[in-house]
Amino acid sequence: MIYTWEDIEEHVAVCTCCPLCKTRRLPVMGRGNRQSALMLIAEAPGGQEDQQGIPFVGSSGEVLDRLLQDCGLKREDIYITNIIKCHPPGNRDPKEEEKEACFPYLKYETYLLKPEIIVCLGRVAAQRIITPDFKITRQHGTWIYRKNCALTATYHPSAILRDASKYEIVKEDFCEIAKKRAQLLAKQS
Ligand code: SF4
Repeated sequence: MIYTWEDIEEHVAVCTCCPLCKTRRLPVMGRGNRQSALMLIAEAPGGQEDQQGIPFVGSSGEVLDRLLQDCGLKREDIYITNIIKCHPPGNRDPKEEEKEACFPYLKYETYLLKPEIIVCLGRVAAQRIITPDFKITRQHGTWIYRKNCALTATYHPSAILRDASKYEIVKEDFCEIAKKRAQLLAKQS
């Protein structure tokens, strides 16, 4: 049973619950502000994250930082994690059994964080968290509400590395997210 952030970290650090434990270099636990109302969820650590054990370092991380900055947010304002905590070889999509094996960690992170806004980065995260038939091209930037939480999705920053024209689209989504966070903070103050 996991009760604390430290418990999750300890379990993830030595996890062998799926075959990715054999190919990863380092598992990548979520990071950021553990008091934040804003949780970002992507699909899986990339190659650089695998080397450093930290989410969103490298070029995708740089794009994310630029997006946050352009919308008046900082890394310290968010908590960021992945559906699975170990890098899939060749950056392939995570397999169903890997997602299922790793999902309890995400559940515990969500339970401890109690986010009021969840942002899925990319199709894989959106289809696991929002709905299995989520179409990122058509539905990015839309919102749904579950209990006390607002959920949305946008493109993964790596999509911008492949197609720079997506930057402005994703920036618009991020600015809406920043607006929603500001409204939430104003309500709480
Ligand atoms: S991906 Fe998740 S379930 Fe698989 S070994 Fe890594 S931490 Fe464990």
